Amino acid sequence: MIIKESGEISDGLYVIGPSAIPVYLLDGLRPVIFDAGFTALAHEYETRIKEILGDRKPAYLFLTHSHFDHIGAVSHFKSVWPRLQIAGSVRCHEILLKQKAIKLIRDLNLEGTKNLKKLGIHPLNEQPFEPFDIDILITPDQKIKLSSDIIVTAFNTPGHTWDFMSYWIAEKKILIASEAVACYESNGYLQPEFLVDFDAYLLSLQKIKNLDTKILCAGHHAVFTGKDAPGHIQASVKAANDYLTMTQDFLVQEKGNLDCTVLRIKAVEWDNRPWPKQPESAYLLNTSQRVKIIWERMNKHGGGHTVTISRIKTINKIKPIFREYLDYMSQFFLIHDFESWCKGALKNLQLDSIADDRYIYILKKSDAIIGFAMVNKHLRFNSKGFAVAEFYIQKNHEKKGYGRKLAEHVFEKFPDNWEVAVSLKNKSALVFWTQVVSSYTNGKFIKKWNPSFCGYGFVFNNGLKK
Ligand SMILES: [Zn+2]
Repeated sequence: MIIKESGEISDGLYVIGPSAIPVYLLDGLRPVIFDAGFTALAHEYETRIKEILGDRKPAYLFLTHSHFDHIGAVSHFKSVWPRLQIAGSVRCHEILLKQKAIKLIRDLNLEGTKNLKKLGIHPLNEQPFEPFDIDILITPDQKIKLSSDIIVTAFNTPGHTWDFMSYWIAEKKILIASEAVACYESNGYLQPEFLVDFDAYLLSLQKIKNLDTKILCAGHHAVFTGKDAPGHIQASVKAANDYLTMTQDFLVQEKGNLDCTVLRIKAVEWDNRPWPKQPESAYLLNTSQRVKIIWERMNKHGGGHTVTISRIKTINKIKPIFREYLDYMSQFFLIHDFESWCKGALKNLQLDSIADDRYIYILKKSDAIIGFAMVNKHLRFNSKGFAVAEFYIQKNHEKKGYGRKLAEHVFEKFPDNWEVAVSLKNKSALVFWTQVVSSYTNGKFIKKWNPSFCGYGFVFNNGLKK
């Protein structure tokens, strides 16, 4: 079941306050609170908790992470219940020592108060957010015994933030995962919540996937019970991967323009989402963050933007990839003795490298050579100018824009007449050069047939190109 209202879930577990900004209460011998919502809602949380506990008092408050909407009412709780033990991660504690962080948390809570006021919600706590001390520094996998039969286990589940802790109550199969899982929006859309690291977020989901969760408490809007609990963890993995694919595609299409990418994602997931929803400014802030970390991840993994092109003057470095190229090209020629053909080709390459009207460019990704281009003046179609003599991108690096980048780089070096000769048999090269040359020249090229070579020449002049 997906429970979207506040109140008792089952087994002494309650959603306190509005389910959009909830505090979770687990009643028992030593009652426990998880997270502390908005500062503005402090009185409401307090009232509801007192209604349930009567004369008894909460013993612990466990914090999942240090975002403003999860720690807003901590200091108020501490003033109401002075013996309440506040538990949070070491990193969470470190963040709370920073003046800048405190100011941000205070400002965001004041904004939250204003927004709730506009919605006519009252009574509100109008006091600003106050910093607090953490009494119990939680370390990963730490177990806190609440009673003889209830133990809370803290799992470090980074990805949304680095300080993130999920809390697992094995005896009741309750998992307080908050924003370690996707946020369930009012239209059923699952908003992935990684804000600091995509891979860490996925790993965290894998970690909690193996728990036999019966009640899953998310960060906002919903609690999942029964088969919907593991179902939501699984769906969060899918939502994150779908989001990654979508964002990577947009980033490639927008040529790495992060702002344009953010707007395209917003059009897909936010524009048509019904109210109440996250305000536009907060949504844009988080989406920009998600796009940024995906962009950085793509660059780290070499998503098409970390290749370098350089000219080399000796051939030793490219011998291995050149052999690979010959192996590939041999299918287009009638070769009786491959080994001696290779030898001849390498010898020509050696000669090429010392001639001054010949140029060899290599394409490197990280430290590996993944392609090369050779330029000379052996012309078949023009009487003067340059020719692409050999050109190769390793098969596993094809279709990522590297070839186009290398070709354009080489063309730009020599504004003059150009020709690229391609054998009729080499179908994929014909497709590649048709695309690259026509876009590079804006269609201003001639495709010439040469019967003695049995192939086409793509002929153009970029000398006049601005
Ligand atoms: Zn958060």
